[in-house]
Amino acid sequence: MHGSIRSTATQADVDCIVVGGGPAGATAAEDLARAGRAVVLLDRAGRIKPCGGAIPPRCIRDFAIPDEQIVARVTGARITAPSDRHVDMATGRDYVGMVDREHFDEYLRRRAASAGASRVTGTFERIERGADGRPSVVYRTPEGQFASIAARVVIGADGANSAVAKSEVPSSRRNPFVFAYHEIVASPPDATPHFAADRCDIFYRRDFSPDFYAWVFPHGATTSIGTGSAVKGFSLRQGVADLRRATGLGDQITLRREGAPLPLKPLKRWDNGRDVVLVGDAAGVVAPASGEGIYYAMFSARLAAEAVDAALAGADARALATVRKRFMKEHGRVFFVLGMMQHFWYTTDARRERFVSMCRDPDVQRLTWSSYLDKRMAPFEFQSHLKIAMKDFAHLFSMISPWGQKV
Ligand SMILES: Cc1cc2nc3c(=O)[nH]c(=O)nc-3n(C[C@H](O)[C@H](O)[C@H](O)COP(=O)(O)OP(=O)(O)OC[C@H]3O[C@@H](n4cnc5c(N)ncnc54)[C@H](O)[C@@H]3O)c2cc1C
Repeated sequence: MHGSIRSTATQADVDCIVVGGGPAGATAAEDLARAGRAVVLLDRAGRIKPCGGAIPPRCIRDFAIPDEQIVARVTGARITAPSDRHVDMATGRDYVGMVDREHFDEYLRRRAASAGASRVTGTFERIERGADGRPSVVYRTPEGQFASIAARVVIGADGANSAVAKSEVPSSRRNPFVFAYHEIVASPPDATPHFAADRCDIFYRRDFSPDFYAWVFPHGATTSIGTGSAVKGFSLRQGVADLRRATGLGDQITLRREGAPLPLKPLKRWDNGRDVVLVGDAAGVVAPASGEGIYYAMFSARLAAEAVDAALAGADARALATVRKRFMKEHGRVFFVLGMMQHFWYTTDARRERFVSMCRDPDVQRLTWSSYLDKRMAPFEFQSHLKIAMKDFAHLFSMISPWGQKV
C-alpha cells in the first residue's frame, strides 16, 4: 500500500527531516536544500566517526570534495600475505584521498547549511504520527529536553545502529556485522619500515583478523591502524596490538581508540512504503571485502534526495522505493562479487596466501583499481576478466601453488 505524503489536514513544519549528519545525511540535506526544499538536518554531534577515511577520486569528483579536506594522497597499496610476502599495487594515474572524519563530516554539514538546510543538534528518539498520519520526529536536545519537528518525509541516515530503521522499517532484518576497531596514532617518520605516508598497507593474516583484513592508513600527521572481524571472541584490540608490534608502530603515541560496526550487506528494504527512507550505513551499504562505505553512503543519499524531491512534488511515496532499486542496479553486482570474494578468500591463511599472490597479476591490479577508483568497469575488460577467472579457478582447485609454480 502506498500512502500519500502530502498532508491535507495541517501543514508540516518542513518538507524533510534528515536524521544523522554523517556523509549520507549531510549529502541528502544539501541536495534537498539545493532543490529548494525546506530541510532540517538533525545530528546528535559530539562523536568523531571511527573511520579509515579512504575515499576514491570518483567520490572527490562527484561530491566536489575540496583539496583542503584531503589530508594525504595515497598512490599505492601494499598487500601483505600471512607468509609476510607482499605485493605493491600502484594506483597509476590517480590517487586515493584520505579524509579526517573529525573535519570532513563537519565540513559536509556546514556545506548543507550554506545550501539552506537548518541544522538542529539533538538525539533522535522516535517518530510519532498525528491523526493525519504525518510523521513528527521527536528528539532530545543537548539540555535533555524533548522537542519535535513535523515533516512530510524522513530520511534515516543515522548509521549502522539506525534507530530510524529499527522503528520504521522493521521488516528489514539487520544483517550480521563485521566489527571494526582502530587506533589513531601519531604518524611515524616516512622512512619507517612497513610505513609510507603515501601508501595504504593491508594485511591478510589470521592473527590480525580471522575473517577480514587489518590496515595501516596514513592521514598526514596521524595514522589509522585497525582491523575488523565478525568472529565472536576474537580480540580486535589484541589484533591491532599485534599488528602495531609487527609493523614497528607499537611505540607511536596513541591519540584515540575507537570502533564501530560495518554493515556489509544492503537491507532488503530501505523504505516504509509511505514517508521514511534509509540511506548509508542505516541501509547497510558498506562494500564487503573492502569495508568502503563513504562513497556508497553519499551516493545512496543523492538518490534518496532525488526520490524525496520527486515524491514531494508528486505526492507519491512509491518514488522512495526507487532508491534501493537504483542503488542495486548501479552497485549490486560489485557488492555480490565482493561478498563472494570475502567469504571465500578471507577464511584461511592458505587462501589468503593465494589471494595476495593473485594480486601480482597486472590485470587483477588494473581491474581492482578501476573498479575502486572510478566505480566503473569498462566493457572491453572482458578478456582480462576471463583470464582472471581462469587463474582464480587454478588457485581455487590448488592447481598452482600460491606464488605461481605448478604443483
Ligand atoms: C573503523 C572503520 C574504518 C572505516 N574505514 C573506511 C574507509 O577507509 N573508507 C570508507 O569509505 N569507509 C570506511 N568505513 C565505513 C564508513 O565510515 C561508513 O560507511 C560511513 O561513515 C557511513 O556514513 P553514514 O553517513 O551512513 O553513517 P555515519 O558516518 O555513521 O553517520 C551517522 C550520523 O548519524 C548520527 N546519529 C546516529 N544516531 C543518531 C541519533 N539517534 N540521533 C541523531 N543523530 C544520530 C551520528 O552522530 C552520525 O553523525 C569505516 C568504518 C569503520 C567503523
